[in-house]
Amino acid sequence: MNFLSLDPYVCTACSREPMRYRPVRCPKCGIGRLWGHGYYWRKIDRHCGAGTHELAPVPRFRCTGCGRTCSRLPACIAPRRWHGWQPQQDALRTLAEAGSVRATALVLQVCRNTVLRWRGWLAEHAEVFAFHLKSRFPDWAREPDLTTFWREILVGRSLQEVMAILDTHLTVP
Ligand SMILES: [Zn+2]
Repeated sequence: MNFLSLDPYVCTACSREPMRYRPVRCPKCGIGRLWGHGYYWRKIDRHCGAGTHELAPVPRFRCTGCGRTCSRLPACIAPRRWHGWQPQQDALRTLAEAGSVRATALVLQVCRNTVLRWRGWLAEHAEVFAFHLKSRFPDWAREPDLTTFWREILVGRSLQEVMAILDTHLTVP
């Protein structure tokens, strides 16, 4: 189960049951098993409905194989991004419709580099994400090509929910 928005319960669940968030295997070496390694506090974006919570506990894990650590974010926190999933989805959808980075940045009042970064992120992972989603939801496999597939997702679904689904198969980068 993934939590789609941060609320006090999530904060409690994160710190009390970090093993619920444990990835199946180490995302760094792909082999080792992971053990709980405490958690750290991370600033979160208010877009995700966090109410008064500006910091959230993020469980950390240590690999028994390579010794490196990794962490698992609750679905509502976009990994390595200050913005939440919603503005990112808005930008990617607008980009798919308008086609221009400049127009998207102007309409949504975000800087062009941010739009470029989001576009790059999706371009980099689109194929792997689509593969996992199509194998989980055969209905989604009808879309003939990758561009149409992602347009359907960005228009008709919640990017946050889709990332939460993916997060059960792989650690969303
Ligand atoms: Zn490892």
